[in-house]
Amino acid sequence: MRAAVLRGVRDLVIEQRPVPRAGAGEVLVRVSAVGVCGSDVHYYEHGRIGDFVVEAPMVLGHESSGVIVSVGGGVSPDRVGERVSIEPGVPDLTCEQCLAGRYNLCPAMRFYATPPIDGSLAEFVVVHAAFAHTVPDSMSDDAAALLEPLSVGVWANRRAGTTAGSRVLITGAGPVGLVAAQCAIAFGATEVVVADINPHRLALALELGATGVIRVDETPISDSGLEPTILLECSGHPGSTRDGILAVARAGRVVLVGMGGDELALPLSHVQNREIEVTGTFRYANTWPTAIALAASGRVDVDRLVTGHFPLDRTEDALAAGKLDPTSVKAVINPAS
Ligand SMILES: [Zn+2]
Repeated sequence: MRAAVLRGVRDLVIEQRPVPRAGAGEVLVRVSAVGVCGSDVHYYEHGRIGDFVVEAPMVLGHESSGVIVSVGGGVSPDRVGERVSIEPGVPDLTCEQCLAGRYNLCPAMRFYATPPIDGSLAEFVVVHAAFAHTVPDSMSDDAAALLEPLSVGVWANRRAGTTAGSRVLITGAGPVGLVAAQCAIAFGATEVVVADINPHRLALALELGATGVIRVDETPISDSGLEPTILLECSGHPGSTRDGILAVARAGRVVLVGMGGDELALPLSHVQNREIEVTGTFRYANTWPTAIALAASGRVDVDRLVTGHFPLDRTEDALAAGKLDPTSVKAVINPAS
């Protein structure tokens, strides 16, 4: 099979590799669609993200969907032919965090395209049977792949406690900000304002149901009059994070989703005086059933985020799409083509 292998900074090759075999409790999936994530681009451009360093060749990709073509021991053969969305991180399911239901915090997590684990940007991939989630036939291959970033949006809103009547500010209108906004609406938020500098993405946010947008290069958040009960920080930009926090209402909650630098200056007296809760997020746990329901019911539209399709041998073009084209939101690679 062919696989997109990152060997070093800006050194990506399409390599022939043996088709993996499904072990006990696993399924083999023929991959239909893989969304390009900012982390894939970051590994390609820098060879590392924080403590995770690409030290040996690694297959990229972790937002993926496909069809089960064979099963390992202990898995029902009836599953062959099922269309699935792949949850790309498999924890050990036995440690303290896993037993507490927080499997995203499992220290033994094996996550696609996080060194040294290979990702799914290949014609075939194996995954734990319970992490290959069946999707309805009405759902597109793209949408099934994009349940992964949608899960980030679901998790961010769960961490925020978004509920009926919440007023939510989202800083950053990239794919995660756009799904976080849609999830906030689905969770009952009545005011969902998205802030960014990219007018194309802000127009898309409005189209997808945001109640307002702020072009932060023209209007600072502090001039907007907003007083959100929740800030979902999805930009990773220190200035936006600070401005967003300064707008948050008393007893509000801030969820840091975007990845920027390793450190951040907090407007501490504001956080103290208003008893604002600030929390991090790390991926997600138990989000696929919710993500499937939201996408299948049309409450959240992830197909609308897709701005380009690429065959596997144009993986580098797909990785560059976001930088070259301001109207690009989400590139999808089809490994079979
Ligand atoms: Zn664990």
